Amino acid sequence: MSTGAKRPGSGNEAVDGDPAAGSRRWWFAFAVIVVAVLAAGAFMLLRAGSLTRVVGAASTPTPSIPEIARQQVWTSDTPASGTFLTNTIALPPAIPAPKVVRYQVKVEDSTGLDADAVAREVQATFDDPRGWAGYGKRTFELVTDPEQAGLVIFVASPPTTNELCKPAKVESKWNCRVGRTVALNSDRWQYMTPTYDDLGAYRSYLVNHEVGHFLGLGHSTCPREGAPAPVMMQQSIKLGGCTPNAWPKLAD
Ligand SMILES: [Zn+2]
Repeated sequence: MSTGAKRPGSGNEAVDGDPAAGSRRWWFAFAVIVVAVLAAGAFMLLRAGSLTRVVGAASTPTPSIPEIARQQVWTSDTPASGTFLTNTIALPPAIPAPKVVRYQVKVEDSTGLDADAVAREVQATFDDPRGWAGYGKRTFELVTDPEQAGLVIFVASPPTTNELCKPAKVESKWNCRVGRTVALNSDRWQYMTPTYDDLGAYRSYLVNHEVGHFLGLGHSTCPREGAPAPVMMQQSIKLGGCTPNAWPKLAD
């Protein structure tokens, strides 16, 4: 600022001979600098705002994964609250298809997760060409109107997941699909299982696997040693010689 304010005084108006003209120029230059500084400030504020949005949109905060969760399927003491936050954003599908599955995301508030952040990750999985929409038959759209949603994807505490999954027993560890409900255990969403080492990939696996059940598919097994695990294999439990794979469509 101070260097900018000095600049007019050190310029050519000293040789101008007309003190009034010099003063007018000085004020003009001063005004230009003030406008420039204000514009730069506004730009930086906007930029900071958009950066914050981008960071916020990228993913739910990645928790540090405790060492024990790297070695065994870990159950935290996250309590049930029974109160759910629903996505407030709508996201159109990136991949067009004749059939659209509309869904909502609900996150139990005691998990500390943000429903919109979870929803963005879920939609990013649906929008991946390696996912179910990549077959070109159906695509997935995040909606805010519960009347439109034919599928609800929950991320819930272990005790609540047990309730949502009844009559199936998920032992405070696993996930399920019951009717139009997919229930993901918040411990799996946050801490994955030792069969994976990439949390983002594991989250995509969870979504693709449970939604595969919603689409009517059952379980499959590892076809051969070293092959990518089929997405409908229970990869949270074991890989059976396969490598972790989050996607229905395999490149080959
Ligand atoms: Zn399954």
